[in-house]
Amino acid sequence: MTPQDHEQEAMILDMLDRFLETEVAPHVRKLDHDDIYPAEIVEKMKEMGLFGCIISEDYGGLGLSTATYARIITRISRTWMSLSGIINSHLIMASAVQRHGTQAQKSLFLPRFATGELRGGIGLTEPDAGTDLQAIRTVARKDGEDYVVNGAKTWITNSGQGNCIALLVKTDPDAQPRHRGMSLLLAEKGPGFQVTRKLEKLGYRGIDTCELLFQDYRVPADRLIGGVEGRGLQQILSGLELGRINVAARGVGVAQAALDEATAYSQIRKTFGKPICEHQAIQLKLGEMATRVEAARLLVESAARAYDRGERCDMEAGMAKYFATEAALENATEAMRIHGGYGYSKEYNVERLYRDAPLLTIGEGTNEMQRIIIARQLIERNPV
Ligand SMILES: Cc1cc2nc3c(=O)[nH]c(=O)nc-3n(C[C@H](O)[C@H](O)[C@H](O)COP(=O)(O)OP(=O)(O)OC[C@H]3O[C@@H](n4cnc5c(N)ncnc54)[C@H](O)[C@@H]3O)c2cc1C
Repeated sequence: MTPQDHEQEAMILDMLDRFLETEVAPHVRKLDHDDIYPAEIVEKMKEMGLFGCIISEDYGGLGLSTATYARIITRISRTWMSLSGIINSHLIMASAVQRHGTQAQKSLFLPRFATGELRGGIGLTEPDAGTDLQAIRTVARKDGEDYVVNGAKTWITNSGQGNCIALLVKTDPDAQPRHRGMSLLLAEKGPGFQVTRKLEKLGYRGIDTCELLFQDYRVPADRLIGGVEGRGLQQILSGLELGRINVAARGVGVAQAALDEATAYSQIRKTFGKPICEHQAIQLKLGEMATRVEAARLLVESAARAYDRGERCDMEAGMAKYFATEAALENATEAMRIHGGYGYSKEYNVERLYRDAPLLTIGEGTNEMQRIIIARQLIERNPV
């Protein structure tokens, strides 16, 4: 990073901290408990340029590094994880266009993604296909100048309030291997694109995650990302490295928030004549929690820097995602235990952290899969 980059990062993080403290934190409990979409906050996020943070400046974005982006996501998630989801899958969609789109697609879509005029996410998962994405059944058939899409998607974040998704489809359902028949379309809402249901979730509330149905939905053929069929899975998997770094950064934020809450509460709550932070059993917990946060933060930094250098980093992103999200889950549980009965109350933040954290172990590739990815890479990089 140049000194100017450092200065720009410091300025953005400063502005973000002020925004989170004054305009987000006071409203989180109500928005989360009542599952209200934070429309006003989203408008301010647009003004701050957050929807374009990693979109190139040539297309109206902030052009930030992945390392800076990860720090932004950690800070947001320390306050409210749901907000990070509103820009995360949006930016995976944008990144697919930035990395793989045709020049015309970049010029048409990236400036609108950067301002947040077009917002959305990624439509991969189907009722019968999550981890095994090659099993998807949504089909796009060429008809003149259009693709005609039929199928269903589920668990698609930002698809209720957003207006565009990167939609994974089969353009050749009989192709072998299966991924050769998979393509990615930029699908803006229109006739035949139906949001059938908003899903009720344990945590990650306020943000819309929906089921979608496509019935003879027409997409102009020039919305095929990259303009060549059969590259969709590779395009989306290359974006998932970024997604994993992002989810890992969220993990650091949630783990840190749990530590913050536990550190504060343990100094106030007294038992047997002294603050509970003076009991060794609580100190052991705090010591482990603080170490987890720091280790997770360093793994995320290291993966983000490798990504910025353009290196292959599926193992590094996998390690960061696995460790940081397990750290979030463990710290949220420990923070709740440190709070005793109050941790179980909806009046304290730790109950939200406890509900939010498990998602991190599922999204952007489950933690079971991360360990398999790490092991495969380990063997590939260390042949005998
Ligand atoms: C709140 C939320 C938001 C989401 N947002 C989006 C979104 O915006 N866009 C989108 O496309 N999807 C989204 N998803 C879906 C998410 O990506 C999938 O849930 C996830 O990929 C897992 O797929 P699945 O639920 O079908 O589980 P399955 O694939 O059925 O897996 C079930 C279990 O089997 C394990 N497993 C599967 N295969 C293997 C294997 N080969 N080896 C070892 N273990 C294995 C998994 O780790 C898991 O424990 C979201 C999910 C949630 C909960």
